Amino acid sequence: MSDKREDRLILEGSPCGVNYFHEGLLTVQQTKVIGMQYCPNYTTCESDGKTYCSLRSGLEVAQNVVKGNSLKKELEDFSRADFLNGKFWTSLDGKIFKISQGKSKFIAAVERFARVVLLLDPLESVFPRCDSCKGVKLTETVYDSIHDGPFPLSGSGKTKSRSVEYCPDCDPKPQGGIIKEDPYRFDLF
Ligand SMILES: [Zn+2]
Repeated sequence: MSDKREDRLILEGSPCGVNYFHEGLLTVQQTKVIGMQYCPNYTTCESDGKTYCSLRSGLEVAQNVVKGNSLKKELEDFSRADFLNGKFWTSLDGKIFKISQGKSKFIAAVERFARVVLLLDPLESVFPRCDSCKGVKLTETVYDSIHDGPFPLSGSGKTKSRSVEYCPDCDPKPQGGIIKEDPYRFDLF
């Protein structure tokens, strides 16, 4: 897509009143001509009050990208939010809305809408996909302790870090383990 959305339409708009799913909607001036386009879910989600909106979070991510941050960094920051296990509203088209739950799917929904707002391909992702739930996989750094002493729990206390990809909903959180190294091994021979 060659068209770009005006920064102000992203920075000052809201998914409750601007239909960002409309790809031809590029400027604030256009929204003034069309008038306020209330989200079809507006009254439903207001009355609930307990369910998060992945569109609102997605717009916040897009706003930070407009301000100069990378999409990946913003989504990684978002993935550390403390409310991601709660229920959230999501929509693929701005017409049909449904409630979903699951951290991995929440992050995927937020990224998808951030891409809609930024006119990027919503099927792409900065994260690897989880095949089971279609959410995203996160990367966790784990530390293995190296046991290079001759007895259990003896040795130098060295650790080695490695990155592990996992789905926060389908996989257990990765943890480091123990790597045994032969204390009598000579690296030169
Ligand atoms: Zn999954």
